[in-house]
Amino acid sequence: RFPAPEPRTGRSRLLVLAGPTAVGKGTVAAHIRENHPEIHLSVSATTRAPRPGEIDGVHYYFVDDAEFDRLIAEGELLEYAVVHNKSRYGTPRAPIDAALAEGRTVLLEIDLQGARQVRAAEPSATLIFLLPPTWDELVHRLVGRGTENEEERARRLRTAKVELAAQSEFDYRIVNEDVAAAAREVVELSEAPAR
Ligand code: 5GP
Repeated sequence: RFPAPEPRTGRSRLLVLAGPTAVGKGTVAAHIRENHPEIHLSVSATTRAPRPGEIDGVHYYFVDDAEFDRLIAEGELLEYAVVHNKSRYGTPRAPIDAALAEGRTVLLEIDLQGARQVRAAEPSATLIFLLPPTWDELVHRLVGRGTENEEERARRLRTAKVELAAQSEFDYRIVNEDVAAAAREVVELSEAPAR
């Protein structure tokens, strides 16, 4: 006579992956996108222009400033921030709620400001900080990808120092020595007991 209780998998959760510039967050997230379709990877909205190869709706929702303002005004974003002093990025709330309701694990790859907002909004979220093996390796990766000029690199490295100092706010730290191994560690956290 009573409705059956919802099945409890005990694994549905919100994972947030953050870490300094060039640490390889995007690469780890891409690896998970390709190898773990059971995990819902959140697609952010951003006001920055697409890079070659980026697909609207897959890597980001590319929107203009007016549309981003609308998303904020309508309360459609779980969190949002200006990243690297330039473009705005935000996490659409509805797809996350839908995936969690289906019992799926949700992964957000966002910056430190966003991670803090998610922690405040969803205290049960699991915060994961991705670390470079060493500071020199981080500098090496940033220079190696060659996507920023000298001034921009210097600015990102100053931000990275600040971000590294915030790692103690996170529940878990993963050193990104090898992308597949780091991705596996993230996936394993989605199967660990909830906080
Ligand atoms: P990129 O422009 O290189 O794709 O990303 C730049 C930065 O924006 C990365 O540090 C990434 O983690 C962050 N980012 C991407 N999406 C979001 C989001 O929805 N919210 C926040 N706060 N940061 C994001």
